[in-house]
Amino acid sequence: MRLYNTLTRSKETFNPIDPEHIKFYVCGPTVYDRAHIGNARPVVVFDILLRLLQHLYPKVTYVRNITDIDDKIIVASRERNIDIKTLTEETTKMYQEDMGALNAIPPSCQPKATDHIADMQSIIAELIEKGHAYAAEGHVLFSVKSDPSYGLLARLNRDDMIAGARVEVAPYKKDPEDFVLWKPSTFEQPGWDSPWGYGRPGWHIECSAMAKKYLGETFDIHGGGIDLIFPHHENEIAQSSCCHQKPLANYWMHNGHLVVNGEKMSKSLGNFFTVREKLADMPGEVIRLILMATHYRQPLDWTDQAVTQAKNILDRFYGALQGYEGETGSFSESVLEALQDDLNTPLALAHLHELTQSIYKAATDKEKTLYQQQLKSNGNLLGLLFQTPRQWFQENKTASLSPEDIHALINERRSTRESKNFKRADEIRQQLEEQGIILEDTVHGSTWKYK
Ligand SMILES: [Zn+2]
Repeated sequence: MRLYNTLTRSKETFNPIDPEHIKFYVCGPTVYDRAHIGNARPVVVFDILLRLLQHLYPKVTYVRNITDIDDKIIVASRERNIDIKTLTEETTKMYQEDMGALNAIPPSCQPKATDHIADMQSIIAELIEKGHAYAAEGHVLFSVKSDPSYGLLARLNRDDMIAGARVEVAPYKKDPEDFVLWKPSTFEQPGWDSPWGYGRPGWHIECSAMAKKYLGETFDIHGGGIDLIFPHHENEIAQSSCCHQKPLANYWMHNGHLVVNGEKMSKSLGNFFTVREKLADMPGEVIRLILMATHYRQPLDWTDQAVTQAKNILDRFYGALQGYEGETGSFSESVLEALQDDLNTPLALAHLHELTQSIYKAATDKEKTLYQQQLKSNGNLLGLLFQTPRQWFQENKTASLSPEDIHALINERRSTRESKNFKRADEIRQQLEEQGIILEDTVHGSTWKYK
């Protein structure tokens, strides 16, 4: 398998630390609000990676954290006048439901930040001891100057970093680029006792602590959205590698931005959508397909056209699976090769299209069944095609007629033709054609297929 490593800016052969057990970590949600469609992209991308790794290796541990302590959470709980625990638990549950609707396998472990305060405090204490952090006015700050490797992932110069960190004027900072590991809380704010006073952790330290606890000091793959490279991932690396004198992760993978109709998604532009809102309009499988139709490192443009296209593709795939009730089989080499080449999902989908064509062109039933089995198996590897065609067409009536509707119309057409009502028979043919269904009259009766 080859993966693009943000650390080296190149595609590298994947060499696991232990081929018997792959370990990877993806930064999870801050649970104060519904996940938006951009939040779903890394979930789908790394779910495909998980499925591929599970096929290639005997054991995979996938950790995705839940940030349940954050200033945004404190603000949201005040605005909605509900306590923080209720807010974060409710939002976590909604997040898991929404991602489940996109057919994402739950990670092996979803640790919550608030359950790991002691683990964070122990890394902070060690960083102070080793001269990489200092306490000042109730805060603990990481000293960026103490880490000569700082900036290796983001490849920014010091001025960019200072600008990017959007540092406030803070008298307790020795250098403007230093970042917070621990900060004081007032008594109305959530907080924990610590050697540096009552307070709460900064965001970056939680990933260092939870990754260490569940995956060890160095693990294989760390993933997240491209916007996390700096400062979040840079800071995770600084904290962990200065604490352990080891790399945090060997491969760093980042998915590209998601835009809506070519524009950055924002509430003020009115193009901001939550996953839940989209799930009210379309099946989760359509959302999933859109999120994988573009290669994960490219920017992804969410458009109405992309939605229609994804629906049509799934109609076509499920249409080709009609009548197939067998088990799934092995994966095709071509699909595996595409995915093992830095998760080339567009190429993998192109192979699924080829299989669909082969199903329609198959000369014998045996051949057709074989291709159907391949389509279903490879679709499953991508987290698609788990439904039966009947379920798909019933749930997705807006896109097409269900197979039952089609058969009812075909039967009606046959009887109208028998009673010489050719006008009505033509109307039915027309009606089906408008729904993308082509009829073929044979000596044995009419068969149908999708356009
Ligand atoms: Zn993180």
